[in-house]
Amino acid sequence: MSNSPEFTFVRVALITGGAQGIGRAIALRLAADGLDVAVDDIPSQLPLLEEVVAEVQKLGRKAIALTYDVSKEEDVQAMVDKTVSDLGRLDVMVANAGISGGITPIMDADIAHWESVWAVNIRGPLLCYKYAAKQMVKQGQGGRIIGASSICGKQGFAGLGAYCASKATVRSLTQTASLEFAEHGITVNAYAPGMIETDMTKRSVDSALGGPCAAVKRVMQIPDAKVGQADVVAGLVSYLAAPESHFITGQTISIDGGIRFD
Ligand code: NAD
Repeated sequence: MSNSPEFTFVRVALITGGAQGIGRAIALRLAADGLDVAVDDIPSQLPLLEEVVAEVQKLGRKAIALTYDVSKEEDVQAMVDKTVSDLGRLDVMVANAGISGGITPIMDADIAHWESVWAVNIRGPLLCYKYAAKQMVKQGQGGRIIGASSICGKQGFAGLGAYCASKATVRSLTQTASLEFAEHGITVNAYAPGMIETDMTKRSVDSALGGPCAAVKRVMQIPDAKVGQADVVAGLVSYLAAPESHFITGQTISIDGGIRFD
């Protein structure tokens, strides 16, 4: 069965960091759109991954759970290979996995800690883009690669230097990859969420501001005074993954409720 009038086959998506939060919402949305999905996360998240797989199967789509570490080259290569061997192909790569790394002031910078944030947030997307593109080129039918930047990739936040630098890198990596992959019909874009209510923001806001997500509304001017939910990001990814988004590439798209800082 096709999931688009333009395709005579079922497209396959691979979502990293898919056990919870934004990644989980993306996996469920792409399955609802008619794609088969592979969801990857770290091994301790396997029970949550299996719940996502069960939810996808209820939508009538195939799903597999994977536990590869996106910061390791051999893992990312194996993750793509396993997706292709189990689900037949790879058409949409969502390099969503990321960590905040907690508070990392520059004057106290511990290089090993900063590099541990970059291993997941920079090396991860780089490797996902690399191996997904190689597979898509082999298939010869184009593809969609989508990364996870952040409002922190556009603007510095005191105490979040390691994270901000990593998310700015996703932005430039996305633009560069879009230029390199264009001749193969592969688009590369990223989402740049503001404050989306997930475990990550609960953890980082708790440590940064000493309070829950609601505290953010007092320090950031969000016009509709709402913290976003993961499904709004999933809706954007649904569009970026779809055939009709073929004329959008190299973009990092803000999805932040219109946050203003000045
Ligand atoms: P989250 O912490 O809820 O989920 C991230 C998932 O990534 C977790 O399940 C985690 O186990 C997984 N992960 C971490 N390291 C991994 C690794 N090495 N290999 C594979 N999986 C790994 O986070 P979220 O809020 O859903 O964020 C998803 C993405 O969106 C992240 O890249 C994040 O930086 C970005 N983002 C989130 C927000 C927000 O407000 N929540 C804002 C801007 C950007």
